[in-house]
Amino acid sequence: MCYAIPGKVTAIKGKTVTVDYFGEKKTAINEIVNLKLGDYIYAQGGYVIQTIPEREAVEVLETWKELFFELRETDVRLSRRPAEETGVSKSISLILDKAAEGRELKREELLRLLLTENPAELDQLYKTANFLRQKYLSNSCCVHGIIEFSNYCKHDCTYCGIRRSNSIIKRYRLTDEEIFSAVDEAVEKHGFKALVLQSGEDPEYPAERVAGLIKEIKKRHAVLIFVSVGEVGREGLAKLYEAGARGVLLRFETSDPKLYANLHCGDELEDRLQDVRDAYSLGYLVLTGGLIGLPGQTEESLLNDILLTKELKAEMYSFGPVLPDGPKTDLVLKILAVSRLVDPKNAKIVVTTGFETLDPEARRKGLLAGANSVMLNVTPLKYRKLYDIYPNRAHTEETIEEQIKSTLELLYSLGRAPTDLGI
Ligand code: SF4
Repeated sequence: MCYAIPGKVTAIKGKTVTVDYFGEKKTAINEIVNLKLGDYIYAQGGYVIQTIPEREAVEVLETWKELFFELRETDVRLSRRPAEETGVSKSISLILDKAAEGRELKREELLRLLLTENPAELDQLYKTANFLRQKYLSNSCCVHGIIEFSNYCKHDCTYCGIRRSNSIIKRYRLTDEEIFSAVDEAVEKHGFKALVLQSGEDPEYPAERVAGLIKEIKKRHAVLIFVSVGEVGREGLAKLYEAGARGVLLRFETSDPKLYANLHCGDELEDRLQDVRDAYSLGYLVLTGGLIGLPGQTEESLLNDILLTKELKAEMYSFGPVLPDGPKTDLVLKILAVSRLVDPKNAKIVVTTGFETLDPEARRKGLLAGANSVMLNVTPLKYRKLYDIYPNRAHTEETIEEQIKSTLELLYSLGRAPTDLGI
């Protein structure tokens, strides 16, 4: 199973290449020496990760062609936005019309959207976000795999099940061989082209050791690697980049410094943000965002979180509910939809596993409210339940095959192509 469509290189300008996918042009960053016009490539997360022989590319494209256009038609149909809907106030209607025209919304307008509880207005908000996602980013949907290789953490964040002081949970670390074989299986058997390596902030895994793992993985596979191992500092980030990682997943959790310090045992939000900024400045794709439903969190604060995510130049937005006593589904959907309105042309917005745990229909609902990215858990099953950051986490019992099957069924029913076609 393949989660990327090969594209043909039609222009090369320095490190930026233009790639053609069935007539649609996208750009991607290239680090492959000797890439030529006319080459076929796979791009993931905006990076060219692999060239492929023409014959193989043509074969894959042939199998995709009909499906690609069929899916796009379904997506266009499902993302139409009714001009008027009964029950929507004039003021909300005007704000959403302005957003649909691609105009930037003011802070008070965004806040007005976050504060509405009116079902008709929420419906129109989600449809507008979905319309914008389709208009600017078409129907591609990132499908990344995630491998949780250690649940040890030296921190003690109050909301987190794997915090240091939780003595009830069983701790684990995958051996290097187990990590490599999980990667081999994800890439070779299932066709993943982007993987997240995730752990708590585990002192047994300093940046040097993670870098060693990445080097070996990059030697074996053409795959885009994201790291999600907590704060490693600029030097650590540089080592991981040098080893071949190209994405960092590091949520700031909340833009409110006081709230952050309460959650993170007095740590400073600024330090966290510096890590995210360093990641961006080193050339990483940044995946960041916050928590929804923290005690004392207001819509104002949540809006600040969304705006901060954009300010941090995030490639991917990740907002998840605080669990187990999560917020209402609609609050999460509002955050996803407003994120889309704030960053309509670029954002890859993730439906988080946390949201899927809160609401079994989260993926469908999120993808219809502006989101365009999902993650599948490819951690070996025997460890998956142990990464217990909150109770009853979704997908801890499903095999990778089962997750792929249900994801593809859902994506196809919504007209989405499980691909990642550049920036
Ligand atoms: S939230 Fe992250 S840093 Fe905090 S305890 Fe959990 S894994 Fe560790």
